[in-house]
Amino acid sequence: MKILYVEDDPTARSYIRKGLQEHGNVVDVAESGDDGLEKAAIGAYDLLLLDVGLPGMSGFELLRQLRAVGDSTPVLVLSARGEVSDRIRGLNLGADDYLPKPFAFAELLARIQAIRRRVVTGPADPVLRLADLELDAGAHRVQRAGRVVALTRKEFVLLEYLMRNAGQVLSRTMITEKVWDYGFDSHSNVIDVHIAHLRRKIDRDFERKLLHTVKGVGYVLEEREP
Ligand code: CA
Repeated sequence: MKILYVEDDPTARSYIRKGLQEHGNVVDVAESGDDGLEKAAIGAYDLLLLDVGLPGMSGFELLRQLRAVGDSTPVLVLSARGEVSDRIRGLNLGADDYLPKPFAFAELLARIQAIRRRVVTGPADPVLRLADLELDAGAHRVQRAGRVVALTRKEFVLLEYLMRNAGQVLSRTMITEKVWDYGFDSHSNVIDVHIAHLRRKIDRDFERKLLHTVKGVGYVLEEREP
């Protein structure tokens, strides 16, 4: 998932960011409410992790403004204020869940998975399938024709994005927005290099190719008639 984490405490910011990256997420950070609102408006995020106590605009105010313009990105509020009134306030403002600080990282991950199941993949099945290619987002495992394919973290995120949008041509800009961090240069050849690696791993040994280049446009993952 692509996550925006709004947090003014630098220690928490780098610790949580690193942990989430290790679990296969793409994580941007913002240090203030204003910075967070600006990034949220342009960043195409799957989830916002929102601290409440921020300099300037509070997390609650950010959430209020976000919902006021019709942005329905899932929001998980993190707050040192564990009181029931704050919890209710966050949920009333349109937060999807609320986690009081301090929390264990494992609990944060579990809450994120729960939101992901509810919002991103739907309630039933976290496993994505195309032909004999299978990606299990929960177990973080990819298989083709029953054989496990070892992917790097970035390749996994890239494949997950392609599989969620199977049959649609995805441009470099779209891929950049979902798979790389804020500020990444989409004109570099990094995307092409990752696509080449991914293609080698999921397609090379198989007769039926799934990952296709659409010249001048981008890439598409789909099953085509031979
Ligand atoms: Ca704070």
